[in-house]
Amino acid sequence: MPTCDLLFTHATLIDGTGAARRDGALAVSAGRIAAVGDCAGWQAARTIDAGGRALAPGFIDVHTHDDSALLADPAMAAKTSQGVTSVIAGNCGISIAPLVPRHGLPPPLMLLGEAADYRFPTVADYRRALEAAPPSVNVGLLVGHSTLRAGAMDDTARAATGAEIEAMAAALDQALRDGGLGLSTGLSYPASRAAPTAEVVALARVTARHPGALYTTHMRSERDQVVEAVGETLEIGREAAIPVVISHHKCIGRRNFGKTTVTLGLIDKALATQDVALDVYPYTASSTVLLPEFVGEAERIIVTSSQPHPEQARRDLSAIAADWGVSLEDAAARLGPATAIYFQMDEADLRRVLSHPRTMIGSDGIPGPYPHPRLWGSFPRVLGHYARELGLLTLEDAVRRMTSLPAAVFGLPGRGVLQAGYAADLVLFDPGRVIDRADYDQPCEPSAGIDAVYVNGLQVWGPEGASGAAAGQFLHH
Ligand SMILES: [Zn+2]
Repeated sequence: MPTCDLLFTHATLIDGTGAARRDGALAVSAGRIAAVGDCAGWQAARTIDAGGRALAPGFIDVHTHDDSALLADPAMAAKTSQGVTSVIAGNCGISIAPLVPRHGLPPPLMLLGEAADYRFPTVADYRRALEAAPPSVNVGLLVGHSTLRAGAMDDTARAATGAEIEAMAAALDQALRDGGLGLSTGLSYPASRAAPTAEVVALARVTARHPGALYTTHMRSERDQVVEAVGETLEIGREAAIPVVISHHKCIGRRNFGKTTVTLGLIDKALATQDVALDVYPYTASSTVLLPEFVGEAERIIVTSSQPHPEQARRDLSAIAADWGVSLEDAAARLGPATAIYFQMDEADLRRVLSHPRTMIGSDGIPGPYPHPRLWGSFPRVLGHYARELGLLTLEDAVRRMTSLPAAVFGLPGRGVLQAGYAADLVLFDPGRVIDRADYDQPCEPSAGIDAVYVNGLQVWGPEGASGAAAGQFLHH
């Protein structure tokens, strides 16, 4: 008689491929899925009667800024409580490694912490730190262009010289050998906006030499030039012959509402000849550093943190500006370094992006005491609000975007599907009840309906909350 550590019976299996749900069982042994479907005759150390609830592959959060949080708060309740079992860090051009800063931190590097938090000269050093104190989730790391610039340049407000590009290329090549999954850029931010397309192409070509590596980008514009920015992204992908991921795709500002019809059309056309995917978070407010040049298009801005004025956190920028008798731009400048939530996108654009077949889910949350609710709510919000309540996606397709699609795009073999031999990253949830509960007033509320979460066969979330199990592995090609 075959034996296993854990046996789920009477489950509704949602296998991650997008295939229709089916009733069945699933056996876990030594951190891996041992059998799926008919598990009659299996002897288990522990049996869990799923009672008809859904059992799916654990969710992969493809867009995170968890680089430092993974070490500071390894239980990662914000993620495990959503059913997330793997996170991709190092997005938007900023990765915590490889960098020991010599010249201070140009924006937005402070999103990951202070200068002292950047203490990993190589990705191998960061990986060793994670493996010495494993977090509850698996971790993949992108190598950030802005991080490379901060390491190679004395001034990031200009294009890199040939010698600086060579230095970045060498650091990038080593970072990819050390397990980095690809290159990320944040071309709209001060640390990288002066980089011409050719600088990015040069680094994307270095990345493309590593099998399975990809290029992800917080594009040069998500505002008036968003269509041109998609064009630049596709061009970089073609020039370097590398798969591209457009991060948190959106069109900011009322006059740009509706432009996703154009951008998604460009992407559809490109898909005939090149590999393209996207990610999105299911909210119409964004969150990032507070900069004077970012305040123009937003209908409302909530300040979430300020180094010189911590007492202003959780207040509207307009109220702060009124108190101080200054413009919004001047108030933003005085509050910096600071972070904020910006209400500035259109629901119809969000739904259009979310429905695109190549779109994955990425929370893009910035860990902290007063985060955007996406940090805690993104995945249950897609499952509960956009799939169940609105019917925008089938449950199977919503799960596919969180599991097999990101595993394929990021090159994470053996994850993202309920299949024998695959890692036992699993989420047991109630499709009729799952929903986000974090909002702009109470942003750190765990979701409802996520009943149990397992990473490599170990339980990391359940009715008692986060277990803190050191279950996560470093994911590499
Ligand atoms: Zn970004």
